[in-house]
Amino acid sequence: MPGKPNPPTHLIRESLRSMPGYHLSAYDCPIKLNQNESPYELPDDLKRRILDRVQTEAWGRYPEPMPTDLVEALARYAGVGADRLIVSNGSNTLVQHLFLTAISPGTRVVVPRPSFSLYGQYVTICGGETVFVDLDDQFGFDVERLHATIETQKPGLTILCAPNNPTGCDINNEDLVNLLEVSEGFVVVDEAYGEFTDRTAIDLLDRYANLIVLKTLSKAFGGAGLRIGYLIAHPDVAAQVLKVKVPFDINTFSRVAALELLQHADLIRERAERIQQERTRLFRILDGMDGIVPYASSANLILFDVVTPDEIFNRLIDRGVLVRNVSSYPNLSRCLRVSIGTPQENDAFIDALKSSLEA
Ligand code: PMP
Repeated sequence: MPGKPNPPTHLIRESLRSMPGYHLSAYDCPIKLNQNESPYELPDDLKRRILDRVQTEAWGRYPEPMPTDLVEALARYAGVGADRLIVSNGSNTLVQHLFLTAISPGTRVVVPRPSFSLYGQYVTICGGETVFVDLDDQFGFDVERLHATIETQKPGLTILCAPNNPTGCDINNEDLVNLLEVSEGFVVVDEAYGEFTDRTAIDLLDRYANLIVLKTLSKAFGGAGLRIGYLIAHPDVAAQVLKVKVPFDINTFSRVAALELLQHADLIRERAERIQQERTRLFRILDGMDGIVPYASSANLILFDVVTPDEIFNRLIDRGVLVRNVSSYPNLSRCLRVSIGTPQENDAFIDALKSSLEA
């Protein structure tokens, strides 16, 4: 038999073949400020309790298709009814589920630019058509243009990352209401960084059945390795997304860990406040540095302008500090992004940045 040496790649969707994948280069740096994670590890006694509890679970049995206890705990934390909430293994996955639910070939999706790169990618995979709306010249949401675009383009879906990654800008609920009013389609607010602000779109869910909110335990909760994200929507919408969701996507370990973590919401709040204070301190220092222009942020990150971002990025790595080089993103050709770390990490970043600028 001759066999088949070549896979039938022509059968793979054209839109996918021509698309670059999500890519993150690995660097070995002692100070890691490139993925907007929490710089604070979970306390050892909390980790021990999780491990002890996991020990008593049945590992050989399937978990519930939708973990009722975790859904209820998250719904209590968010202050919403459990019938509005879907949990999955990360909010990235929920973006995918949501797009598979609401995007048909040709559906227009409004996405601010620059924002989280995965949105545009998943729109393309689902056969939708992305309508980008640039941020304003200070990298804030251009609410007027968003409003006008929604009015004229009539998108099936608009997705706002608020606070935004990678710029840190936020949208207030008043402006959001204006967008919800003009939208005939869904408006999704990705609040991955929501714990670092004092507003949430959750407050609008009772009034706007076209609103969908995404949240995660990966950022302020310090649980990026646990892979827990959740979606809050009108119960009728949640019921449809549930059909798309893969059953058993929350493994036993993650379920138990998330349940324990939610018992410590006070600790998480306190840590989020510390990060906000550090953000203010870091912003002021960056603002006072020659050759650096930082942008105001409501997330645990700061975007800043520097004349030679590639060079500075590499010099920071040489000095043991990893930030995110976002200079290839649309409109960010002079920018780097730094996640807020512990005070010591932030000091080390500043020292490294100063000497990188002088080098
Ligand atoms: N949304 C945004 C805006 C993000 O920046 C990230 C992480 N970089 C995610 C979602 C991913 O969250 P999760 O870990 O819950 O998949």
